[in-house]
Amino acid sequence: MREVTTVAALRAHLDDARRRGQRIGFVPTMGFLHDGHLALVDAAKRLSDVVVMSIFVNPLQFGPTEDLSRYPRDLARDRALAEGRGVDLLFVPTVEEMYPPGRELRVAAGPTGDRWEGAHRPGHFDGVLTVVAKFFNQVQPDVALFGQKDIQQVTLVRQLIREFDIPVTLRVEPTVREADGLARSSRNVYLSAEDRAAALSLSRALFAARERWMHGERDGARLREAAEAVVRATPGVTLDYIAVADPKDLAPVAEAPAGTVVAVAARVGSTRLIDNLILGEECA
Ligand code: AMP
Repeated sequence: MREVTTVAALRAHLDDARRRGQRIGFVPTMGFLHDGHLALVDAAKRLSDVVVMSIFVNPLQFGPTEDLSRYPRDLARDRALAEGRGVDLLFVPTVEEMYPPGRELRVAAGPTGDRWEGAHRPGHFDGVLTVVAKFFNQVQPDVALFGQKDIQQVTLVRQLIREFDIPVTLRVEPTVREADGLARSSRNVYLSAEDRAAALSLSRALFAARERWMHGERDGARLREAAEAVVRATPGVTLDYIAVADPKDLAPVAEAPAGTVVAVAARVGSTRLIDNLILGEECA
């Protein structure tokens, strides 16, 4: 595995690969890798010849009171995990490399970026789309892999690709969970044993809504209430939202056909977690 820290070195390496006719797969991450990230690498390896992973904790997508400074980092461990899984090129830029002084522009996420996560994290998706647009221009991948875990991010990246005519294929991989249902997240490391138990209420809430749906419930509000009841019954968990939403633009739906997204965000102690599932789809 090669490791580069500058856009120039990244470009030199990838120009070479492209000249040899190799397909480039790209997995953007903020590091502190877990099985969810590594599943994206596996998918990238199936779909491309050169797998590029970025590790960059993007300051633009953190609000002033969020966990940017304490976001977990362990580059040595990430390096070993990435190499072991078959990443070919690890791109680890500094903040200065990505955002040189004098930079002024940002991608504006629009209405889809204002709901759910965006309502609780103002500007978050502007930051996400800005860094993703930069990465797409730097790496120019044939295929980019994202996790369903961050479903609003996926929805907006799809919109970015479509509306900005970016020549990349988006692949979305299913959420990787712990055996008990908790979605893997770099932020799970923040959880105490007690928090860890309470955090299970997020996936349980989603499963409760899915259970109702499988028994024929199609009313969006009632599905939301079923999920909400699980979270509200769990001490130590503060609900931010339950969304029962259209997969296209994440607008809330009154009726929930197959394909409807159920998403949850909640704070467990001081840790904010998100999760989602798609009604009618199996999930691990
Ligand atoms: P992050 O490092 O949290 O920004 O995540 C980098 C990529 O990994 C994003 O596309 C995430 O959606 C994806 N990801 C994070 N957690 C999971 C998970 N549990 N299962 C699948 N993909 C995930």
